[in-house]
Amino acid sequence: MDNIYTLSLSDNNTINIFIIRKKIKNYYMKIAPDLTVEVSIPLKMDINVIYDFINSHKKWIEKSINKFKKAKQDNIKDALINGGTVKILDSQYIVYIYSSNENKIIFDGFTINIYSKMPNDTDYLQKQYNEFLKAEAYEYFKKVLNKYLPIFQKYNVPNPTIKIKPLKSKWGSCRISTGEITLNLHLFKASAQCIDYVILHELTHLVHPGHKKRFYNFLEKYMPNYREIEKQLDTEAAQLLY
Ligand SMILES: [Zn+2]
Repeated sequence: MDNIYTLSLSDNNTINIFIIRKKIKNYYMKIAPDLTVEVSIPLKMDINVIYDFINSHKKWIEKSINKFKKAKQDNIKDALINGGTVKILDSQYIVYIYSSNENKIIFDGFTINIYSKMPNDTDYLQKQYNEFLKAEAYEYFKKVLNKYLPIFQKYNVPNPTIKIKPLKSKWGSCRISTGEITLNLHLFKASAQCIDYVILHELTHLVHPGHKKRFYNFLEKYMPNYREIEKQLDTEAAQLLY
């Protein structure tokens, strides 16, 4: 059932593209770091549609291959390109970008697979990825918030809610009157204990608005090593906020 299609590139080289039929609804193309190109297609799809799809994406294929070669040379960090890496919870994951007729991002715990209608458009990919990151971050931040919530139950504070935004100069902020906590999207790239610290810090403001002694006494009670984590956050800020 599998099929190999030979595509001639603009530099007169040719590459073999592996066409694989699978039980799927939408077709997509994948370029692996070893530079093999695969197109997965639904079981009964007309092969000519796929040949057209491949030919209309010739530029993207060439660009991706070149980017892969360059990424290997430069070891680029946090880059939404094939073979680039992104950071989540203090770990690096390799990015694969697929040209697809459907937008979706699959994180399998090892790699970030971005299926995109516009795989060549860096801004579009960044937007797509930020949306994914925001949804993942929200789930994670919410769990951390719920972990610390019991501490605050005896104080007469509003029920806290989380808002996530990409910020340039701070990790988080808290609106004391409504309990709305705004967290930096980039915080999700930091370590788990840094995230714990920022969320506990913002929650503590519901009880102690300023950064006076009693604020830090309260914080220290629930996070005795908070000074260490603050230092770590300063280092993270230099790397993650831009
Ligand atoms: Zn503060």
